[in-house]
Amino acid sequence: MTDHQHSPGDSPKTNGFIPGLIKGLATTARTLATPSHTAEYPDVQPHLPPRTRGVIALLEENCTSCMLCARECPDWCIYIDSHKETLPATTEGGRERQRNVLDRFAIDFSLCMYCGICIEVCPFDALHWSPEFEYAELNILDLLHEKDRLGEWMPTVPAPSALDPRSADPQEVAAANKPPRTAPERRQ
Ligand code: SF4
Ligand code: SF4
Repeated sequence: MTDHQHSPGDSPKTNGFIPGLIKGLATTARTLATPSHTAEYPDVQPHLPPRTRGVIALLEENCTSCMLCARECPDWCIYIDSHKETLPATTEGGRERQRNVLDRFAIDFSLCMYCGICIEVCPFDALHWSPEFEYAELNILDLLHEKDRLGEWMPTVPAPSALDPRSADPQEVAAANKPPRTAPERRQ
């Protein structure tokens, strides 16, 4: 018998009502027995995964103003200003050296799409994901954050997870553990 066929005495209105009611009550009972997932934020802070993309933090000491992050950012929302500084020679007769000094590093989080490209491309590990997310503003223009604010988020960056015990040594460790090269013996 299909759903649309009725046995004699069955009212079309009540047919399927009882099984539906039981199914509904079963769902209600199952839901009542399941613990609630409601997070009562802000009274209770959420447990965020360690790699949460909350905000981008800047470790200013590592930044060489190379501009790679700003060039690769698809939204063009990283602003960097720098100038060159001449360092005197450290040895007599040596050459003066030049280095970049970071004047401004800002990210406009109203444009940022949290893709993480800037963090991936930075060759000096100056940018890091922080799980911090409480930086909403009433005015969208206030989402442009300068290097001081970006630096304040650095302490909230979680420590990197431990390496897999079976992974290869990091390049620096492998290089340090390499035996020194010996000079080839001279022929007599
Ligand atoms: S996360 Fe993506 S969009 Fe945001 S600043 Fe970095 S590169 Fe630009
Ligand atoms: S944050 Fe990294 S990629 Fe960006 S300018 Fe500084 S060193 Fe270069």
